[in-house]
Amino acid sequence: MRKRALITGLTGQDGSYLAELLFDQGYQVFGLVRRSSSSNLERISHLGSNVEILSGDLLDQSSLMDVITQAQPDEIYNLASQSYVPLSWTQPALTAEYTALGVSRLLESVRRCKPDAKFYQASSSEVFGQPDESPQNEHTAFRPRNPYGVAKAYAHWMTINYRQQYKLFACCGLTYTHESPRRGMEFVFRKITHTVAAIKLGLSNELKLGNLDARRDWCYAKDAVHAMWLMLQQEQPDDYIIASGQTYSVQELVECAFKLVGLNWQDYVIVDSAFYRPNEPMQLVGSIEKIRKNIGWCPQYSFEQLVELMLVHDLKELSSKTI
Ligand code: NAP
Repeated sequence: MRKRALITGLTGQDGSYLAELLFDQGYQVFGLVRRSSSSNLERISHLGSNVEILSGDLLDQSSLMDVITQAQPDEIYNLASQSYVPLSWTQPALTAEYTALGVSRLLESVRRCKPDAKFYQASSSEVFGQPDESPQNEHTAFRPRNPYGVAKAYAHWMTINYRQQYKLFACCGLTYTHESPRRGMEFVFRKITHTVAAIKLGLSNELKLGNLDARRDWCYAKDAVHAMWLMLQQEQPDDYIIASGQTYSVQELVECAFKLVGLNWQDYVIVDSAFYRPNEPMQLVGSIEKIRKNIGWCPQYSFEQLVELMLVHDLKELSSKTI
């Protein structure tokens, strides 16, 4: 019998990579997708009928119960959320509705409709905010510093509470920033590779950035979704940090990208305080000791490989549009 998996957030970056991975593993894959007046299936169009789309919304409990009843999943991956930190400052209540209360609705739906399904919750390093230790591990105190991080902290603890109270096989993956050619343009890594590609092709002549000293623990989204899947293949549910374990500054990323296309970054980069992030987190870097030891996971792609594969993709994409 083929295993069945339900992914929320199918149309997002991670959802699309996870759907590919699960399909390759022989799963029957279902995706919860909210209604939109225009198509948002760009990231999953290549999967065609290999994924069955079910209509639902984290804001609507009955739709979640219907989707779970219909899909009868063995595994549920909750990747849906309002995932952009700056927007959480301008829309804090909506962020809480999706990213915090949406998880309550989903957990309650799992408990009522398919309590034996294994459940993955997409937690985030943003729960650590201004951490008092570095690197962070699974026991580091949560001190979120933005509404997104606060919402993710609530969702994280609700997941653990459902595991303890109702014995759900529910796990949280505390992912650090992960990137890919399918990442939205509003995120700095993709903004950099895309703009550097545009500059190389003569389509742009500047790259405006905020704090060049900001450091991030970046990894490849394909590596991250592999960790999510492995977490649900274990005998016992548990929570894990999913990270690269190393940080690079925005400036190091810029230098690497411009070097790959043979240009001098100082000729193009403009620092603009409008792009500075309020409450910039300091030294968010994850310890991957636990996941490495218990599950045998570590990232397969280096920082330099990630920059290169995204740049190659963006050069190809932009070139095809200019022909
Ligand atoms: P993403 O590209 O922003 O995708 C978010 C997904 O959530 C989209 O499919 C979106 O659907 C869906 N969604 C939003 N609101 C919804 C609602 N009310 N009902 C149903 N679906 C809804 O995010 P991602 O980068 O793939 O990240 C996956 C998860 O990991 C998210 O929970 C994110 O917060 C978390 N995370 C990501 C990172 C990272 O670096 N990528 C790091 C830490 C944690 P539409 O297409 O309809 O908008």
